[in-house]
Parts: sequence; structure tokens; C-alpha cells
Amino acid sequence: MVRAIVGANWGDEGKGKITDMLAKESDIIVRFQGGSNAGHTIINNYGKFALHLLPSGVFYDHTTSIIGNGVALNIPYLIDEINSVVERGVPKPRILVSDRAQVLMPYHVLFDTYEEARLAGKSFGSTKSGIAPFYSDKYAKIGIQVSELFDDEVIKEKIGRVCETKNVLLEHLYHKPLLDPEELLETCRQYRDMVAPYVCDVSAYLHQAIKEGKTILLEGQLGSLKDTDHGIYPMVTSSSTLAAYGAIGAGIPPYEIKDIITVVKAYSSAVGAGAFVSEIFGGEADELRRRGGDGGEFGATTGRPRRMGWFDAVATRYGCRIQGATEVAFTVLDVLGYLKEIPVCVGYEIDGEVTKDFPSTVKLGKAKPVFTTLPGWNCDIRGIKTYEELPKNCQNYIEFVEKEIGVRISMVSNGPGRDDIIMR
Ligand code: GDP
Repeated sequence: MVRAIVGANWGDEGKGKITDMLAKESDIIVRFQGGSNAGHTIINNYGKFALHLLPSGVFYDHTTSIIGNGVALNIPYLIDEINSVVERGVPKPRILVSDRAQVLMPYHVLFDTYEEARLAGKSFGSTKSGIAPFYSDKYAKIGIQVSELFDDEVIKEKIGRVCETKNVLLEHLYHKPLLDPEELLETCRQYRDMVAPYVCDVSAYLHQAIKEGKTILLEGQLGSLKDTDHGIYPMVTSSSTLAAYGAIGAGIPPYEIKDIITVVKAYSSAVGAGAFVSEIFGGEADELRRRGGDGGEFGATTGRPRRMGWFDAVATRYGCRIQGATEVAFTVLDVLGYLKEIPVCVGYEIDGEVTKDFPSTVKLGKAKPVFTTLPGWNCDIRGIKTYEELPKNCQNYIEFVEKEIGVRISMVSNGPGRDDIIMR
């Protein structure tokens, strides 16, 4: 049984928490896209963790954590992350890395940084983790697969080709020091030795696991609106954030993904540039940011303050549809307990017309939010364990959102901890 856990919004919906929770009854957790450019915050019996590359299921000793072929694999980062959880008392995790995953190289980070500086004010708000240059190289066919690290001749040739084109850009566009092929070869040898204990034909492994009836979670990074194809292009990430890509980025048949748990946040937050129709500003935003998430809405990777907004039903309905949501986990609802009234964006006004359909980017830039206001419940709902115990106005808010997005809300998260969950 394969389940995907993915985001309907701009990321930071709380996928890590839901994955950590569901991992308890799962055998294998797979990261299938993205890299170390976004973080998942997890709070459990070992403490509070910000994971970037490891799947959020690493905290149990019965699970296997997998880095699928679709991931941008930063090898030293992965090793550091493994060490950092072990140092804090977590049992040494069982980790497998796909032999077809590609290696994020130090020059990807350099190019990301140089390009952001070159674009200055017109940048895409990159986290400078090398993700865009990495995926560009992958599709330009000058990326390095993990399996290639184990063949010196192949690597030498690949590095030669990489240096040829990159050094032209470094010299003439960025005016920066050139890449040295010898040094890169040495880096690749070091990476080979670091990753060797984990390398696996992941697709074959998962094929067998599915046959044996194992429970597999595919953990997505970021959310629908950051998807390269279906998101707010070009203010998107460089890999697909959709459950459908889970099949590709893990190497399993698409029809095996039976359940797509789409995580929806009870209000909106986003990092980086791009249209954000229900965005709020000033004191109103500051208060929500301060109270949001677990101790404030600041990026887990960059520490940047997140942009804040009210719940956007237009974007979320679209985000759920494009994921193919079979059920929704509705998160951080407890945060809204301070409000007497809660605005919800239920439509976009574009050129004088109101629509409920999420538009493509050019039109999105012109959209103005149409808000409706629901009564708040104005109390703390943390610690509540059953749906019936939730205040009536809180239930109304959940049911209003459910109707707007058209997908069943099966779980309500009312706190950052593993057990802060209400099953419906
Ligand atoms: P992810 O990338 O989707 O895993 O999300 P992040 O971990 O970046 O952001 C979610 C933040 O909200 C983290 O700080 C979580 O600890 C926190 N969080 C998750 N669920 C809840 C919840 O129901 N209530 C509260 N207050 N915080 C939550």
C-alpha cells in the first residue's frame, strides 16, 4: 500500500508532522523530489528537529528511509543530517539512496548564488541550495548519477564536459574563479566513499516491498503552487511537488499510489517572491506570523520571515485537485484561536470578474481577493482529542473549508506534536 503525503499550498503545511505521525504504522518512507532547500519541523519524543533531506520517518527503528532517484542529493549534507539525529539519541536509521539519484555538486550551489546576485532585485528568491542549477544540469544531461561515482573513467569524462561549459560562464558572465577538474574528481571520490554504504537499486527494492504488502509513504516537499508545471511559474521550485511525480521520483508504478493525503494549512504562508492573493500585511500579518506554526512562521532553511495570508480557498481547491487529493489533513488550526472573526478568501476578482478557478500566472498577477468572514472560536483548542469536543465555530470553519475545497478533511491537526491530531 503506497500513500503520498503532499502539500496543497506553498509549502510549510506541516507535511513533516503528518509523515512522522503516519510513519509509526509504515515500513518505508521515501523522499522523491527536491533537495535540502526546504525544511520539515518535527517535534516528537526525541525533541525538535528540522530535517531537510532525510524523510520525516527516520525516528522509528522499524522504518527504512529512502532517498529516491528524483531527489537532488547533497551527499555531505545527508551524512551530516544522519549524524545529527544519531547524536541526539535517535536509533541509527536504516537509509537507502537510489543508485539513480543525481549528485548535487558544490558548483551547483555556487551557480545558484552567483545567479541570484546577478539577477539582484529580479531574483526568484532561491534558497541558494543549488537546486535550480542541479535540475538544469540533470535535464541538460550533464548531471552525475550516484552509480557513476563508482566508475572513475565515466566521472573524468563527465567532469571534463561540465568544466567546458561552466568555465565559460564563470569567466565571461560571472567573473568568478574557474572550476578545477582535478579538484572535482577528488570531490567525487570523497562523495563515493561517503554514500557507498547506502546505495541501492531503490526501484527494485520498492517493487519487492509492494509485492510483500509493505506500507510505503511518499513524502513530498513544498506544495502544489510551487510545482514547476502547475504552480505559479516562474516563482516555482525546480522539481515537481505533485504526488504523481512520486511514482517517477521513487520508481514505482503510478497505480500503486492508492491514497494521496494532501496537507492543507488553516491559513496561508509562503516564502519567496510570486503572487500571493490572500496576503496580509502590517500588524495583522505580524501577529499571525508570531503566533503561527510552532513558535513563529520563519523559514526552516533560511530563517526568512514567511509571508502571511488568510486561508485561500481558490488556491487550495486547485492545489488539492492538481495533487489528486483523496483526503485532506487540515493543520495548524489551533493558531487561529486568537481571532474573533476569520477572513477566508473565496474568490479572485480579475478584470472586474469574480472567479473561483485558479488562473495561470499572468492573470494571477491581476487577481484581487474576495473575502468572506467566518466567526472565530476565540479559545485554545490544543489538547482536544475528538471532533465533537471542538467548539461549534471551529467545526463550522472546518466544514466551510471542506465544502470550498471539495475534499474530505479526515484529520485535523491542533498542535505541532505527534499526538496533536483529531481523526474524523
Ligand atoms: P512542512 O515542510 O510541510 O513539513 O512544514 P514545516 O515543518 O516547514 O512547517 C510547519 C510548522 O508548523 C512546523 O513548525 C511544525 O512544527 C508546525 N506545525 C505542524 N502542525 C501544526 C499544528 O497543527 N499546530 C501548530 N501550532 N503547529 C504545527
